[in-house]
Amino acid sequence: MFDVTIIGAGPAGISASLYARRANLNVLVLYHGEGSLEKAHKIDNYYGFPEGITGRDLYDNGVLQAKNLGVEVRDAEVTHLTMNADMTFTLTAGGEEIASKAVLIATGNKKLRPNIKGLKDFEGKGVSYCAICDAFFYRKKNVVVIGSGKFAASEAGDLVNVAASVKILTNGEDKSQIESLTGGQYEINSAKISEIKGNPENGRVSSILFEDGTELSADGIFIALGEAGAADFAKKLGIFLNGDSITVNENMETNIKGIYACGNSTGGLLQISKAVYEGAKAGLSAVEYVRSLAKNA
Ligand SMILES: Cc1cc2nc3c(=O)[nH]c(=O)nc-3n(C[C@H](O)[C@H](O)[C@H](O)COP(=O)(O)OP(=O)(O)OC[C@H]3O[C@@H](n4cnc5c(N)ncnc54)[C@H](O)[C@@H]3O)c2cc1C
Repeated sequence: MFDVTIIGAGPAGISASLYARRANLNVLVLYHGEGSLEKAHKIDNYYGFPEGITGRDLYDNGVLQAKNLGVEVRDAEVTHLTMNADMTFTLTAGGEEIASKAVLIATGNKKLRPNIKGLKDFEGKGVSYCAICDAFFYRKKNVVVIGSGKFAASEAGDLVNVAASVKILTNGEDKSQIESLTGGQYEINSAKISEIKGNPENGRVSSILFEDGTELSADGIFIALGEAGAADFAKKLGIFLNGDSITVNENMETNIKGIYACGNSTGGLLQISKAVYEGAKAGLSAVEYVRSLAKNA
């Protein structure tokens, strides 16, 4: 069991890990895919780099600093986060279950919306970004999941026992990964999507039109591109959100005891300095929380 597990190895997650590890806690950092920092070509406005620094170099330095202190850093995509009856947490990451006393969400602010005509218009009217939150509304209905990786497979798994049918659309992406992840359980279509169409009578999604001219009827569309993001974890656990940003207090605490959020995932100023500050705060809050568990045990 880890004392603190941090989802995200960007400036928020790594900053949190430094404070938690220096308080002698057992700390795991999980990352998967590029965060914002690695995408930043050159950083000119962060303290201490008169010539600027590339996002990649700053990222690598941070990860190295954490590893040197004894933080375990693993490449594993977190697809699920659940709370256990004893108030600990279980993360599903890279197919493995990881137990932790406290969890920090530092996954950045990504919400990947595919550029498909009509999609935005039907958000909340048949287009959803959270299977576990909305599956209930699609009981015995025909739904599709758009995506081609582990997150898409996980979302399809949350829908399969509720919906009448679940199909996976990769929207032009190679379907071999999702095929092997789902073992032939779902019909998978890799045609490129050209448009989402609605039913003029109720204003809800009715079908998906493909570039090859074919059309597929659907009552619901679940978007599951890339990795599960901050809002996805939050919704599944009932963590309060403000739009796509996680709501935290000044100590980076969410409304669920033992879960903290920091950096771009909490919205506001989307800059490294704010991510580092919030990471430090979240790390210190998690230390206090884990120590309080030990005292009350
Ligand atoms: C092109 C560009 C240029 C920028 N330039 C500047 C600049 O000049 N100055 C400045 O201050 N800021 C700049 N920024 C913003 C800055 O990069 C971000 O504010 C900062 O990186 C946010 O840090 P973070 O730790 O919250 O998130 P991120 O850096 O986005 O890190 C998110 C982490 O979460 C991980 N992750 C996400 N989902 C999962 C999952 N499901 N499972 C496991 N891991 C997951 C990712 O692998 C990553 O490690 C720029 C951003 C971009 C995109």
